[in-house]
Amino acid sequence: ELEDKISVADSLEILEKTRIELFGKKGAMTAEFKKLKDVPGPEKKAFAEGLNRNKANLQKLYDEKYSELKAKKIEELLKAETIDVSLYSNLEAKGALHPVMATMDKIIDYFVALNFSVEDGPKVEDDFHNFEALNLPKNHPAREMQDTFFCRDGGVLRTHTSPVQIRKMLETKPPIRMIAPGAVFRKDYDITHTPMFHQVEGLVVQKKGEVNFANLKSILSDFLHYMFGEVEVRFRPSFFPFTEPSAEVDISCIFCEAKGCRICSHTGWLEVLGCGIVDPNVFKAVEYENVSGYAFGLGVERFAMLLHKIPDLRMLFEGDRRLLEQFR
Ligand SMILES: [Zn+2]
Repeated sequence: ELEDKISVADSLEILEKTRIELFGKKGAMTAEFKKLKDVPGPEKKAFAEGLNRNKANLQKLYDEKYSELKAKKIEELLKAETIDVSLYSNLEAKGALHPVMATMDKIIDYFVALNFSVEDGPKVEDDFHNFEALNLPKNHPAREMQDTFFCRDGGVLRTHTSPVQIRKMLETKPPIRMIAPGAVFRKDYDITHTPMFHQVEGLVVQKKGEVNFANLKSILSDFLHYMFGEVEVRFRPSFFPFTEPSAEVDISCIFCEAKGCRICSHTGWLEVLGCGIVDPNVFKAVEYENVSGYAFGLGVERFAMLLHKIPDLRMLFEGDRRLLEQFR
């Protein structure tokens, strides 16, 4: 009966109760040993030997049971408190904005403070919004300036964020004061080009005569000082299909203080922006009359590269943590 009591115990708690019942001060075995004094002399020795044998036997059963239940308990605890060491701890992984996004935010902040709205549009565009309405009719040689990705259904991956300006003008009446930040796509891949990059374009449209090139020059000069600090800014005549007159904007080289280096091709100048007065044909396409406006556009990656002295544009998209960790 006592052996059974030990063998049915299924937890350490129950086994401990059983131990007290057997071996405790008022336990069953203790009671048996107390009988020893009433046993007649000649039988005492045999009785005592029997008792000790039984006690040793029970003790052995108890010890085995104890080890078994203890092992079981440890296993249960291990299971309950398992730590999956293959999981990454998120204590270390403090994220940060990608340098391109951080640069974009800095650019957006400037124009938002000047009351520009921030507009967005589709990345898959149609021919009208991406080319036609921007004074780039079919077979116009300027289309060659932009190596386009064409979709099977006739759409294109937008080659600039200018179509967002067309959409905005078709949607609303002037005045307009907007920027369009976002990803654009061109078939290009080298040290200063990736097939996807980001632009911020700006557009201001007001009543005819209310805005002119001087306004454009003033706002962009101030913007470039905000981005790059004390630099010289110069405007160079250029050509874009959707503006006339057009200009490219340079800043004095921030790497060599305009003395001439490899990055500025030894000219002392870095090209950073394109801009101009909106071409009348663009306003015709969106049926705006008696308005004038200016527009500008810049590549965000180029700004990020210049600001952080990154030598190869492609590095920005390789996802190498050794580079990215420096921007925490
Ligand atoms: Zn230089």
